[in-house]
This record gives sequence, structure tokens and C-alpha cells, in this order.
Amino acid sequence: MIPGLPFVHAPAPPRILIVDDDVGTIRLLAQVVRDLGDVRFATGGADALAATRAEAPDLVLLDAEMEGMDGFQTCTALRVLPGMEAVPILFVTSHSGVDSEIKALAAGAVDFITKPFHPHIVEARVRTHLALKQRTDALLRLATLDGLTGIANRRAFDGALAQETLRLAQGGAGPLSLVLADVDHFKRFNDFYGHQAGDDCLRAVAGALSSGLRHGGEVAARFGGEEFAILLPGHDPSAALRAAERLRRTVAGLSLPHAARPDGDLVTISAGAATLAEPGDSAALIAAADQALYRAKSSGRNRVILAS
Ligand code: GH3
Ligand code: MG
Ligand code: MG
Ligand code: MG
Repeated sequence: MIPGLPFVHAPAPPRILIVDDDVGTIRLLAQVVRDLGDVRFATGGADALAATRAEAPDLVLLDAEMEGMDGFQTCTALRVLPGMEAVPILFVTSHSGVDSEIKALAAGAVDFITKPFHPHIVEARVRTHLALKQRTDALLRLATLDGLTGIANRRAFDGALAQETLRLAQGGAGPLSLVLADVDHFKRFNDFYGHQAGDDCLRAVAGALSSGLRHGGEVAARFGGEEFAILLPGHDPSAALRAAERLRRTVAGLSLPHAARPDGDLVTISAGAATLAEPGDSAALIAAADQALYRAKSSGRNRVILAS
């Protein structure tokens, strides 16, 4: 828990990955850290990489000397896997020389414990690094998630959009589509049901939009107020239109009552969809989706318009 910062989620028990080619050492280490988290193990570098790709651990205890891929190579390879930037890797090794320690730190390790290890030292260092990891995760959540709805915030969306337009510019990606969605007659909803109910409505809409995504890389974000942005990499205009239409139906399907609107009785969204088929300007993509959204509003709401 970080003093002065709200607690966003109760953290799951941290995952601790022990990597050693000696099963006896794995057993000893597992005993030392078993109360600190969920312990998994791998008996070699390749195993460790596979386990990490399946589910990134929160901390790694890594042997230096192993058959095949040694600990230094494993450490370098682990560092660059998705979600591993901030994961502490601690060497536990009988290599006690300064050179190995330097090599381990250069490969991205945060700590270096020599064998034979003292259980209390290992436990204390693991505790310290798990606490730091938890803080990093909490700060990352606060920096990237919207406080009201729990989906990506504007900052995270801007980052994802910048990354995807860069991928497009580098030629490594298909078309990039963007959907801007806005809750219909939301001011009347607030005025009629109250601001608290308005907040609940935004949470429900955000949940529907983010659970309506199909593939990794797609991002639903709170763009501001009662407006949402959905980034759809690899979607051409007709795929973007289908996705937006699906999201519109999902929100209508929530059947949230809206008795104060003049043109219906349920909460709905209007949406505009636009596509960058070739490398281009993200500001132009946003402007095109926004114009389409404006047309969806002016032509009757609860509908999707594709940018021309
Ligand atoms: P339209 O169909 O044209 O989009 O009409 P609208 O009433 O939805 O649009 P308008 O932009 O006039 O009103 C948006 C409202 O959204 C006004 C604002 O008070 C409300 N709003 C923005 N952010 C929040 C929020 O975090 N919580 C709540 N409860 N209301 C919010
Ligand atoms: Mg070994
Ligand atoms: Mg609105
Ligand atoms: Mg609006």
C-alpha cells in the first residue's frame, strides 16, 4: 500500500519464478519464499522464457550457471519480453566474483546473492523487491487507468495511438482504425437521475465497450467526459464499421433506462469511425472520427457513421 495514494485493486499474490538446473536448490529456495507468493519454477533458460511468455512473473530468482542458456543470457532475454521491464531479476549463484556480479547487473539483474545463501537474506531481499514491484505496478495503474471507469485513460490512449501510427509508418502493420463514441443526451441523464447515477452509467458503458473488444492490441479508453475512444489496429473501414456497430448494439443491449431523452428511453451511444490506410497523422485520424461522430449525432443519434 502506498501512503497517500488510493488503492486501485487488491493485488493478487505475486508470482515468483525460480530458475535453476539443480532441483535441490529450487526446493531450498521455494521453501524460503513460499509464504511471499505463488512459486513457480523452471529448470533451464528456455523453460523460464516459455513460462514467462505464458504469464509474466513478478520476481525471478535466477541461477547463473546452467546447461544450454546460462543465467546471463536468460536474464537478457527475459528483460525484453512483454511486461518484464519492471520485473526484478535476482541472481542466486555460486559465482562469487566481482566480474560475474557486474555481468549480471549489466544483463538487467537488480540483485546478486551468492551461494551458499542464508535463507533470511534471500527472504528479506525478495520481500524488498516484491514491495518495490507492487509500488511500480500501482503507480503504473494510476498513470494509465481512468479513475472512474477503470479502463485506459487519455494518456494511455495517446501512447497507444502514437505507437500504432509509428508501427504503420514502419510498414509493420495493416490499416489503423479509430472509433470515437459519445453517450447520447447524457446531460439530460445527469440532470434527471443525478450525477452519481451518471457515474454508474459511464462505468457500465466503459465496461461494455472494453469487454466488446476481440483482439489484443485493441484499446478502449475514456477520451474525456462521456466520450470514449476505441483503437482498432488492423481494421480496414468496413471492419471498423462492423466493430463500431457491434459496440453500439452492446451498449444499447445493456438496456439502461434513460427516461429524460426526447428520442427514446434507453442509454445509447453515437459513434464515428475513421481509418488510416497508410502512414499518416494521428491528429487527422482523430479529426476524421470526430467529424463522423458529429454526423452521427446530427443525423439522429444511436448510430455509427464511417468517415468519408
Ligand atoms: P449529445 O447527445 O449531443 O452528446 O448530448 P449530451 O448531453 O450527451 O452532450 P453534452 O456534451 O451537452 O453533455 C455531456 C455531459 O456529460 C455534461 C457533463 O456534465 C457530463 N459528464 C462529463 N463527465 C462526467 C462524469 O465524469 N460524470 C458524470 N456523471 N457526468 C459527466
Ligand atoms: Mg546451476
Ligand atoms: Mg453526449
Ligand atoms: Mg460529448
